[in-house]
Amino acid sequence: IFFGMLAGILLGTLLRALFDDSGDFAFRVLGLEVSTYTLLVEGIFNIIGKIFIASLQMLVVPLVFVSLVCGTCNLSDPSKLGRLGGRSILLYLFTTALAISLAVSFALLVAPGEGINLDTNTTFSAKEAPSLSEVIINMFPTNPINAMAEGNMLQIIVFSVLFGVAMAMSGSAGKRLGDLFEDLNKVVMRLVTILMNLAPYGVFALMAKLFATIGFDTFTSLLKYFFLVLFVLLVHAFVSYPLLLKLLSGLNPVQLIKKMRDAALFAFSTSSSSATLPVTLETARNKLGVKNTVASFTVPLGATINMDGTAIMQGVATVFIAQVYGVDLSVSDYLMVILTATLASIGTAGVPGVGLIMLAMVLQQVGLPVEGIALIIGVDRLLDMTRTAVNVTGDCTVACIVAKSEGELDLDTYNNPNAGAREE
Ligand code: ASP
Repeated sequence: IFFGMLAGILLGTLLRALFDDSGDFAFRVLGLEVSTYTLLVEGIFNIIGKIFIASLQMLVVPLVFVSLVCGTCNLSDPSKLGRLGGRSILLYLFTTALAISLAVSFALLVAPGEGINLDTNTTFSAKEAPSLSEVIINMFPTNPINAMAEGNMLQIIVFSVLFGVAMAMSGSAGKRLGDLFEDLNKVVMRLVTILMNLAPYGVFALMAKLFATIGFDTFTSLLKYFFLVLFVLLVHAFVSYPLLLKLLSGLNPVQLIKKMRDAALFAFSTSSSSATLPVTLETARNKLGVKNTVASFTVPLGATINMDGTAIMQGVATVFIAQVYGVDLSVSDYLMVILTATLASIGTAGVPGVGLIMLAMVLQQVGLPVEGIALIIGVDRLLDMTRTAVNVTGDCTVACIVAKSEGELDLDTYNNPNAGAREE
C-alpha cells in the first residue's frame, strides 16, 4: 500500500510536469483524439480511484450494523454498555478539546497570519452550527432503513445497539439470530480483506490523479500555516496519543503506532475516516486485539464524532484568519472556538473536506469573516489527507484505552507485532 501510494505520487507529479490538458501524445479512443494526460488522469486513474472509494463506502453500513449487533447481543451485562459508551464519548471529547487547545496555543506562539496580505475578496457561506439538543435528537432514527440508506452513522449505531440489546433479551430466538449475525460478520469481514488486498492499486490511482491535478500556486504564502498545522498534527499523533495510552492504560504506544500504518495510509489516500472505517475496524480488532464488543461500538462512533486532526486545523486556521484580518480574539472567544469545534465534529461525518464546513461554523461563532476560508482552501487538500490519518489514529487509541479498562483487550494480540497479518 505504501509503495502504491509512493508510486502514485511520483507518477502524478511527473504527469503534471510533463503534460498538460493539451498533451503531446494523442490516442484514438472510440474514434476521438484523447491526450495521454486525459486518458490516464481523467480516464484510468479517475475510474479506478472512484471505484476503490465506492467499494470501501459500500462496506461501511453493513459492517457497522452487523458487527455492532454481534458486539451488543453477546453482552452479558447491559450496564457495561452504558459504561463503555460513556467512557468512549468522554475520551473522544477530551482528545478533541486537547487537540484544538494544542493547536490554538501553538498558533498563538508562532503567529502564522501576521504580516500576510492576501486577496480576501472571495465569498464563502457558512451553515449554522447545530445545537447540542439538535445533535442529541438527531441521533435517534425515525426510520432505520432511511438511516442506513443515508449512511447516518449515529442513527445506525443507536438502532444497532438497541437491536442487539433486544436480541440479548430474547432467549433462544435471540441466540439463533445471533448465530446468523456472527456468520454475516465473518462474510463482511472477508469482503474487507479482499478489498484490502486490492488496496495498493486503488491507492496508487487515487494518488496519481490527485498529484496530477493538485495546484500548488497559493503554497508559498501559506507555508507557515501549512507547516504549523502539520507540526501540531504530528505532535498530537506522536506525543499526545502515546502519552494518553501509556498513562491511562499502561500499553506500549510503539505497537499502536506501528500497527496503525495501513489504516493511516488508507485515511491519507482517501481523506475520509468514514471510507476508512472498514480498515480501522479491522486494525482495532485483528491487530490491536480490541474485542468486538468494544471495537464495533467505539470505532464507528469515533469515525463520526472524533476528529482531532480536523480540530487541529480549525484551531490553527481560526488564529491564522484572525491575524490576517487583524481581529483580536479574547480568551472566551477561544473557549467558544474549542466548544464549537468539538460540537460540530459530533454531527458531521468523516468525508473529504468537511473540516472546512465545520470551520465556517467556528468562524461564525466568534464573528470572524467566513470568507477567510478562501485564504487557506488552496492547501487544504494535503492537510485533509494528513488530518484524516490523525483522526483514525485517535479512534484506535481511544478504542484501546476503553477496551483495556473494560478487560476487553487481548494483550497477546496487542503486543504481537505480527498479529492480524492478512491472508492473501
Ligand atoms: N476528511 C476528514 C475525515 O474524514 C474530515 C475533515 O477534516 O475534513 O476525517
